[in-house]
Parts: sequence; structure tokens; C-alpha cells
Amino acid sequence: MPEGTPPPFLPYARQALGDAEIEAVTAVLRGEWLTTGPTVAAFEAALAKRGAAREAVAVNSGTAALHSAAFALGLEHGTSMVTSPLTFAATANVGLHLGATVRFADVDAATGNLDPEAAAEALTPDSRLLVPIDYAGHPAAWTEFRKLADAHDVRLLADAAHSLGATYRGRPVGSLADLTALSFHPVKPITTAEGGAILGDDEEWMFRARSFQTHGMVRDPARMETAGDPWHQEIHFLGLNYRLPDVLCAIGLAQLERLDGFLARRRAIAARYLEAWAGLASLELPASAPHVEHGWHIFVIRVRDAALRRPLFDALRAAGLGIQVHYEPVHTHPYYQRLGYKIGSCPVAENFAARALTIPLFPAMTDADVERVIETVAEAAGSLA
Ligand SMILES: *Cc1c(COP(=O)(O)O)cnc(C)c1O
Repeated sequence: MPEGTPPPFLPYARQALGDAEIEAVTAVLRGEWLTTGPTVAAFEAALAKRGAAREAVAVNSGTAALHSAAFALGLEHGTSMVTSPLTFAATANVGLHLGATVRFADVDAATGNLDPEAAAEALTPDSRLLVPIDYAGHPAAWTEFRKLADAHDVRLLADAAHSLGATYRGRPVGSLADLTALSFHPVKPITTAEGGAILGDDEEWMFRARSFQTHGMVRDPARMETAGDPWHQEIHFLGLNYRLPDVLCAIGLAQLERLDGFLARRRAIAARYLEAWAGLASLELPASAPHVEHGWHIFVIRVRDAALRRPLFDALRAAGLGIQVHYEPVHTHPYYQRLGYKIGSCPVAENFAARALTIPLFPAMTDADVERVIETVAEAAGSLA
């Protein structure tokens, strides 16, 4: 590389699209249905199968999936939800949009996932919903959360934006909570550009999620509250338009076909990183429990000394690596601060976040990209201490 030329930029994540997606979209564009058509139904059926759920509802973002699912499970004014602060803001925001109280409980220091004991302490008599996140693609402690939810009569919503294709004690993500919310943003396990889905088994909850996605509108004659003319339909809930069009479901169907290949590539890259960096004293590498098949949505390293995070970030960015931080804890954001949430209230999550850096990992990385990341991180981290 000539002196002065900046190194090529390698993002932390990027979609992998090919001819299959392009042809699938083209076929929908040439057809009759742009939205509410057969490709939506086909994508929903394929998603349900993949997640071992009875049903899926496609929506137009992961945020919409969380919002619809939280509504479906009865989160509303006068109730509360407990979740992790180590997540994207949408997880908590949807609770506030529904008028509920949001309580943050601390995380497990090894995985960054919601800590069942901390969650148990955060539950109150008004709690309706427990929302663990499969952080980085590592399934949360679902056995413990199921016990907790049953003991306290609260519902379980999985924020599985990171973890489609991961498994927990042999069971796939999609079958572990009462409802599961997925995201299909370009960095996620599969993409539809923007998109998401709710997976679940319970007919009534899925009916509520589906209605919420279309203005709370009910068309099924068996569910109507009044008899009517052929055009009659009824608004039963206050919903929104959260529909995912056929055009985008076509991308999703093609992506789902490739998910196993994506996962294999993610796991192979993660294994290379773990092996290559095992001897670096300045870093903590991500943990993986023996009873999970990790989805490796993101590869988060932690510097042992928080003061070295910024120098390492700067060095890796200068070398062209699109390092990010997942996440600044939700309760520390100005909006949440103005609502009265306290910095210091989730010390484990705050400490985790203060030392975290997300390293590039995505299926479309070449072997040369992987080697470049390995060498760049080893060199920069090696010169830290
Ligand atoms: C991406 C993400 C969301 C939101 O999904 P969008 O599709 O961007 O709306 C919610 N929770 C987590 C943990 C995410 O990573």
C-alpha cells in the first residue's frame, strides 16, 4: 500500500446478498402483490418452521416486532417489564411507548446476558413481562427465566434480534419464550433491508400481535363483536401499520435458505478469533456456555482495563476496522436520565459496556479479511499493556 493511502474500511457487519435475493425481488415486482400477498405468508411459514414455532407474523422492523409482541402479551399502562440495559434502546423504548414502567436488571459478567437473579429482584407485583436479550447471539438463561416467569406469573418475551439460528439445550431460538422478536436489519443474522417478525405458539397472543400490525383491525367473522355486511371489519385494539411488504419478504425467504451457511461461517470466524487471541493478556474474549450453539451476531472483546478502551478503539479505527460499541447501557442515555434512571444502578452492565469493543465478524468476510483482523487486533492489543 502506498504511503499515505488510508487502509480499506472493513465494517463490523454487512449484509450478504446475491443473485437469489435479486431474482426473488424481481419476481415479486413483476407479479401482482407488492404487500399483503403470498410471499408474506410464505416467509412467515418458513420463519415459523425455522424457529420451531406454531406461527410467525412478519413486521417492518425489529422494533415493530418488540412493540407488537409486548402489546400482545399485555404490557400496558399500570404494568411493568424487566429487561437488560445492555441492549439496543428499542427493547426498552417499546415498553415506554405502551405506557408501562421499564425496570432494568443487571447482567451476567461473562455473557452480558440478563442475570436471572437480578431479574428476580427487579420483579414487582405489577410486572407483566420479562424481556431477556440473546446478547451477541448467545441465548439467555432460558431455563431459569421460564421458572422465574412461571413463579411470578409474568410472560416471557425474547429479544432475539441477535440470535436467529442459535440453539439453547438443543432447542432453537423461536421456541424458548412465550413470544420471540426478530430483526432483519442489514447487520442481523438474515436481512430484509428493514424488517422483523414475532414467533409464537399461543393462538390468542399471535392473534393480538397480528392485529396490532394492521391497526388492531379484525376481519375474522368468528371474532367480530357485531354482525355486519360483507365489507364490515372492526377495530379491537389501538394498532399501527407495521406490515412487511412482499418485496422484502422475498429477500427474507432467500436469506433464510442461506442461514445455515451464514451461521457456519460466523462460527468458523469466531473460532479463529478465539484461538488467535487466547494469549493476549490485555483482553477478555467472549464466553460461550457449553449448552448453547452460539449465533455469533457480534464478536465483543473487552479490554481488562477500561482506560485502554479508547486507545485500542483509535488504533483499530486508524487501521481501517469498523469497530463499534454494543451498547452504551440504555439507562445511561440522556432521555432515560431525564426520566430518573440512575447511573450506577446496573454496575455489571456498566462495567461490561465500558470495556467492550465489537470486532468485525460477518459471513461475507474473506479469509484475507479474517487474517487482517486477527493480525491488526493482536498487534494493537499486544502493544497496550
Ligand atoms: C437491532 C435490534 C433491535 C431493533 O431492531 P430494528 O430492526 O433495528 O428495529 C432491537 N433489539 C436489539 C437487541 C437489536 O439488536
